[in-house]
Amino acid sequence: MKNDPVKVGVIGVGHLGQHHAKHYKNLSDCDMIGIFDVNDTQSTRISRKYNIPSYRTLESLINKIDAVSIVTPTKHHSSVAKLCIERGKHVFIEKPITQTLDQADKLLKIAKQKNVLIQVGHIERLNPALTALKPYSINPKFIELQRLAPYTSRGTDVPVVLDKMIHDIDILLSLVHSPVKAIQAKGLSILTNSVDVAHARIRFENGTVASIMSSRIAKNDVRKIKLFQRELYATIDLFAHTTEVYRVLENEKQGNPSALIEPFHYDEKSLYISYEKPILEKTDLLKVELKNFISSIIGTETSIVSGVEGRDALQVALKIQNKIIQDLH
Ligand code: NAD
Repeated sequence: MKNDPVKVGVIGVGHLGQHHAKHYKNLSDCDMIGIFDVNDTQSTRISRKYNIPSYRTLESLINKIDAVSIVTPTKHHSSVAKLCIERGKHVFIEKPITQTLDQADKLLKIAKQKNVLIQVGHIERLNPALTALKPYSINPKFIELQRLAPYTSRGTDVPVVLDKMIHDIDILLSLVHSPVKAIQAKGLSILTNSVDVAHARIRFENGTVASIMSSRIAKNDVRKIKLFQRELYATIDLFAHTTEVYRVLENEKQGNPSALIEPFHYDEKSLYISYEKPILEKTDLLKVELKNFISSIIGTETSIVSGVEGRDALQVALKIQNKIIQDLH
């Protein structure tokens, strides 16, 4: 039996939220009911642009929907999400889930009581440059993650660790399945009164070490990962959407047919290095992410990034941020 379409809304239709509204309008299995934004001019503009009803109050939109994307600045995620969850609505919250761990834990608790879904917008998990690693047996021992972005005032309600670095923290936690053992961090303010550049060294209980660097003051966007493990080295460019994997093979027949294979000698053994650069398909990641949210509500898929995973990434981000603040004082 076919489910009724999920009635969906979007709260906050600024830079990113308008794209949520646009995609819901075109997705199957959902009805785009309307948008709400505290900025009337913005909500009227987006309402006209995409021919979507604009609601004058949050309450009037909530009354009409089953599920909602929350795409307000981060400082409002907690209060808006709490209201929606208490009213039994499924919520897609843009990253980071909230500003504090206490807020995230409260949302998770109420969502459990109300039996509603929380999904978090850590969209990089869908990046084809990252998903290209799936065919390989990934068990990193050292990872370097770098994210630089030109300055924009959007996102400056929180430090760079919660705005930019949290993407890489979420990726890291999805690759290293071990608890965090120790964190060292350093950061500084350049343009804002908050931390604009941050570096963290994270050691996991299984011995893996990660080095993460993020800056919101840069000339160009850079989003790169270098991953090292026994007999494998991968470079991932999340911005250019490219992945390159080098592997050691004992036998040239072990390589994939598409790989370039070069012999080398080590310790009186003849070995091979295979180089693979998978061809990655370009897709609209936000569309895929929101489709997954609707399918998770219906029960045909599971959420790519759950509320708990969003909370876990926030926990590590806040530990890094606290270390930076301690170091600054
Ligand atoms: P933005 O400032 O462009 O838009 C936010 C909108 O929310 C504005 O139109 C504002 O008027 C509205 N708003 C503010 N408070 C509100 C409230 N209480 N109720 C309803 N509307 C409210 O910001 P943005 O760049 O679109 O970012 C929004 C969120 O999306 C942030 O949490 C940010 O971290 C996240 N984000 C995620 C990604 C990603 O890669 N996943 C990228 C950009 C932004």
